[in-house]
Amino acid sequence: RKGKNERTALQPAALQRCRLAATCHVPRCTGSAPRKGVKGRGRWPDGGTSTRMSRTDGIDAPGSEAGDDAITLRCDYLIVGAGATGMAFADVVLAEGDGSASIVMVDKRPDPGGHWNNASGFVRLHQPACYYGVPSERLEREGDASAFKYEDLSGGGEIRSYYRFLMDKYERGGRVRFYAGCTYDRSADDGTFRSDADGTLYRVEARRRIVDSTYTNVEIPSERPPPFEVDPSVECVPINGLEGMDLSSGKRKRFIVAGAGKTGIDAILYLLNNGVSESDIVWIVSRDAWMFNRDWFNPRTAMLTFPDALTCHKRSFEAYMTEMERIGFYLRIDGGISPSKFSCATVEAHELDQLRSLSNVVRRGRIQAITNSHLIMTKGNPLPFDVDDNVVVNCTANGIPRRPPVPVWQGKKIVLQPVSFCQAAFSAAIIGYVECCPRDKFRTDTDRNNIMRPVPYPVDTRDMIRSSLLSMWNRFEGYGLDSRTKSWCNKCRLLLSSHSSPATTMQLFFGFVLYRQLVAYQKGIEMKMAQHKDEFGVEFELFNSRGPQKSAKLAEAARTVLFVSVALWFVVLALVCIVAYIVFPGRSALSSSIS
Ligand SMILES: Cc1cc2nc3c(=O)[nH]c(=O)nc-3n(C[C@H](O)[C@H](O)[C@H](O)COP(=O)(O)OP(=O)(O)OC[C@H]3O[C@@H](n4cnc5c(N)ncnc54)[C@H](O)[C@@H]3O)c2cc1C
Repeated sequence: RKGKNERTALQPAALQRCRLAATCHVPRCTGSAPRKGVKGRGRWPDGGTSTRMSRTDGIDAPGSEAGDDAITLRCDYLIVGAGATGMAFADVVLAEGDGSASIVMVDKRPDPGGHWNNASGFVRLHQPACYYGVPSERLEREGDASAFKYEDLSGGGEIRSYYRFLMDKYERGGRVRFYAGCTYDRSADDGTFRSDADGTLYRVEARRRIVDSTYTNVEIPSERPPPFEVDPSVECVPINGLEGMDLSSGKRKRFIVAGAGKTGIDAILYLLNNGVSESDIVWIVSRDAWMFNRDWFNPRTAMLTFPDALTCHKRSFEAYMTEMERIGFYLRIDGGISPSKFSCATVEAHELDQLRSLSNVVRRGRIQAITNSHLIMTKGNPLPFDVDDNVVVNCTANGIPRRPPVPVWQGKKIVLQPVSFCQAAFSAAIIGYVECCPRDKFRTDTDRNNIMRPVPYPVDTRDMIRSSLLSMWNRFEGYGLDSRTKSWCNKCRLLLSSHSSPATTMQLFFGFVLYRQLVAYQKGIEMKMAQHKDEFGVEFELFNSRGPQKSAKLAEAARTVLFVSVALWFVVLALVCIVAYIVFPGRSALSSSIS
């Protein structure tokens, strides 16, 4: 139209964007077509080592031009970090946006996939693959009912393949350019980044936003030196060092695994599953942790079993955790020790048995130093150490360090953070979805921030109270029940609810399970608010602490679900009456059906 052409003629960048949209629209992927020509155990072959070289030479994003000392790139979004969160955000913008948004992604690493690039092949997801990745593409295998089993969780190699496949797909679509091996200048935070290979400086003019996916700052042990002094004669390896090591050669007598987080657990299970005897493993546990029981996350049954966990209403936090352990939701290694840590680690009952089989568990604080004869601990006596026979597996890292939550939308910037308890990928996806919603749905950043509060990763046990309350608020007062986002959430493959089978859905309504769940959530909120008051000495400010209903939207949802469940039973009864009337035309339908 004339008016439109006039406008675009005045704005060359916008014109380019429109052309791009016309020619390079990426259709929404159903995720059903397997990648051709790749062989592997599952759908995503074990990726092995990186094949991607730095892509910065000669590749410019749409609308680029050379400046004096910097190459200027124009796009709609600059996404810093191509890990799970950056990729999930990009995926939603491409699939749900107006079809025109162009994206520049930049990452220090040579490949997308974030910390999984440095993970060993045997390091796996802790939660089922069907809740991980991006909304548009399945990561789990066919027949995902078994995906919650440890043997079928995606490993580091598969995850790398998955993200490489996605990045190739996005780049082929023409709306994404990936600048690998480049470091974004976080201190200047002005859209500039530099190639690590040749120092080329890039300046990005992001028309819409700069998206920071690095704020949570995941730290994995293989990427940092041991946080203790190590004598040069000592063999101290990260978890990756175990891969390829001949464990059965009998050359080593003892493995000393330092760290009780996800990586430490993975290292111990790997050693045990590869023939190392439990007596040859020493586990240094500085702090015991609570863990999720993976059985509760079975995609086929989770929606039915969760109410059991929700109906556990104990006022004292300690009693609550004990009760949750009794029903099998949370697990710990030693029932006699009260854990002080929770970092979203997830295990299955048989893995817990394996971990419990270790008799050499050392609880003397952290390692301070390793000499050629001893492990110096922060508490208690040093442990004897034999440089010829022992190898230290360093699995210590902060994982996800504590960082103060900040608003997600901040003018030109989006800071990706979890907005759902221990669910990084879904969190980035829902943020992407809200960002894509038309401006008449969300007019301001305040509108957007108002439907989701950051849910910091818990570090200490009592952080779980606040983080789960924030997550519940998002779910029941924020995006989860907000009319603008609710139906997208329910369909998103990264959420539990989207994996219900038709039979489960029937049970949810006909068995009044969903109604019971929603009522249980209301009580759960009340109980957690009381725990919050006890533990932190202040009220949890978001839910209404004075009114009889802590969450008005939740109460309304419960009433609606009850109405639907009852209505469904009436429909069934009516159908029975009709059938009875047809089969027994001479008698009253109701008495026939009753008889
Ligand atoms: C063994 C293990 C198992 C896990 N299992 C699960 C699970 O099952 N489910 C789950 O939800 N979570 C799991 N997690 C948690 C996991 O940390 C998150 O799921 C997620 O991978 C984090 O992604 P991210 O994008 O935030 O961070 P990252 O993966 O660290 O990505 C951030 C990226 O930003 C890049 N970057 C940082 N700074 C810059 C800069 N200045 N310039 C350019 N690039 C930069 C980094 O190179 C990195 O690639 C697991 C973690 C571990 C260690």
